[in-house]
Amino acid sequence: MVPCPWEDITSLLLRVARRLGLSDAQRLLKSDQSGERPIAYDAQLPVLRTSHAYAAMERLLHLPETMLYGLTLHRFAPALLLPSHAKESTQRPLLSREGGEHFFFPLLTSKVCPLCLQEQEVYARVYWRMKLILSCPRHHCLLFDACPSCHAPIPTLRSSFTTCPYCKKNDRYRLEKPVVFPTRGLLFAGEVFLMRALGIEDGADSRGISLFQASPLLSFEPWLYFQLLERFGEVCRYLLPEQLRLAFCQHLLIPEGYPSLASAPKATRARAQQLVLFHALFAYWPKHWSAGLTTLQRVARELAGGCCQDELAQSDQLLHVLTTHQPDLDTIASGLKHLFESWTRLAHQQTLTQCREDLLLPTRHRLITRGNDVGGE
Ligand SMILES: [Zn+2]
Ligand SMILES: [Zn+2]
Repeated sequence: MVPCPWEDITSLLLRVARRLGLSDAQRLLKSDQSGERPIAYDAQLPVLRTSHAYAAMERLLHLPETMLYGLTLHRFAPALLLPSHAKESTQRPLLSREGGEHFFFPLLTSKVCPLCLQEQEVYARVYWRMKLILSCPRHHCLLFDACPSCHAPIPTLRSSFTTCPYCKKNDRYRLEKPVVFPTRGLLFAGEVFLMRALGIEDGADSRGISLFQASPLLSFEPWLYFQLLERFGEVCRYLLPEQLRLAFCQHLLIPEGYPSLASAPKATRARAQQLVLFHALFAYWPKHWSAGLTTLQRVARELAGGCCQDELAQSDQLLHVLTTHQPDLDTIASGLKHLFESWTRLAHQQTLTQCREDLLLPTRHRLITRGNDVGGE
């Protein structure tokens, strides 16, 4: 059986099992009668690594190793791995275990698009597993990561593409009302940019990329883009609690307003905000760059509350270099990296020592009110 575009390895296993009249893919995995050690854990499937595992899958699916590789998460390794790491691998680059855990859902679970599950050829996409891919590039609706009825995670090795194996409600995944994903604005642009960096062209359109015209983001290698995006995710997590993030989005950087993903889980909303704020720094270049970074530095300074003066002085210097001269690409990349790390360290330290949300919130609120005057131009 030939894999469909962007198909996940567990999806192909289920389709093959069905063709053979087996009720699920687990049975297919157990049916390998070669007498050799079977593939030990289902969780190894999306990250097939050893030649033994590849050989076993080649026997089961009658596909060459190159094709099998394309069904695994390793296909994203060239975009996600540092060039030095990618070179280390002799054949095709493999994601490390940490890399897999960092960028993707736990290996036995994934998300689904209800509209993809309504199509004639139903199958699961490998990129649904990526944490930062929040929407279907083909249908522009939110992917969901839990059963709408019983809220159980969505296992990848299940006996039906459309029915939840836990509550067994018929076609529950497929019949869920799709949540429309806005197809304009920075969240959409950020998603399009991210998929472009991963080389995903599954129905994706290039609207949105034009927002980054003339910005250095377009010149970053994919691995560098992902490195900065991830470091910024840490900044968001520690420095900007949800209310502040929203205020930041609504008033400072996002003229079109912040898309409401009210029905989405908290983790999805946090990832949406990470995408919006990070891409906002680079959109309409250089409109938001200076005000955005300066505001973040001010948040960090307020949070430090008079401590960590050395660290703050260093980040002030970096900020100066990044916002007043016309820095080249290398300076922007290394400057941002250090700035993000510094803010995360500061916020982390303060969280450890103070941990008093009630004391911190009023000052943050004042800061945002002031921030509006600066950012509002
Ligand atoms: Zn879809
Ligand atoms: Zn369920």
